[in-house]
Amino acid sequence: MAVVIRLCKHCNRSFSSKTQRAVYCSPACNAAFHMQKRRKLINLDTINPPQPEEQKS
Ligand SMILES: [Zn+2]
Repeated sequence: MAVVIRLCKHCNRSFSSKTQRAVYCSPACNAAFHMQKRRKLINLDTINPPQPEEQKS
């Protein structure tokens, strides 16, 4: 079974993985990355809140 060396998408450390699909060195990095992404989305929402449709006609 081949082990591949990958770079963690979150902390950029190299780590060995048995699957080609692994993108994080640890579940902690996985969670941290997704939390960051989520926070970004929430920030965008507060900057650009959806417009209410009250002013239509
Ligand atoms: Zn990592």
